[in-house]
Amino acid sequence: MNANRQKSIMVSACLLGLDTRYNGISKKNQAVIDYLTEEKWTVIPVCPEQLAGLPTPRPATRFQKGDGDAVLHGSGIVMNSEQQIVNDAFIKGAEQVLQIAALNRCRVALFKERSPSCGVHHIYREGQIVSGQGVSTACLKRHRISVFSEDELARLDTIDAGEENK
Ligand code: SF4
Repeated sequence: MNANRQKSIMVSACLLGLDTRYNGISKKNQAVIDYLTEEKWTVIPVCPEQLAGLPTPRPATRFQKGDGDAVLHGSGIVMNSEQQIVNDAFIKGAEQVLQIAALNRCRVALFKERSPSCGVHHIYREGQIVSGQGVSTACLKRHRISVFSEDELARLDTIDAGEENK
């Protein structure tokens, strides 16, 4: 079988043009769509926050303390614009994404940078962009699933799809 046909990747749904963001619109990224199409990835769209059962639109959410890894450790805080701590929902969304990865034997994700769920290298904390990862990204990485941002398409070329999808 052509190895390319085995390449499955979870992708932040908003990058694919789905209106899943907190403000009810997408963050469609044509470069991402073109790349995934050209490289014949099997795309699995996921939105951790919708999978958690949060509504769309929903209040904007930022880290008040720590990042996704800290939330999973119990020391971080994700808070929405209505001053509600939403750690439990974000952890639930991460667990849902992890289940989807397991069901599809998917070992790679391409996520939206700076999101409190999907951020790969950076997040918003108290109005600032800082180093850190979203809750779902942290959860996937704990389970040795590779997570890339939309700015790292070139790095996806280096993945051995056969290895990643074992
Ligand atoms: S949780 Fe992730 S997929 Fe969903 S809207 Fe936010 S960045 Fe996009």
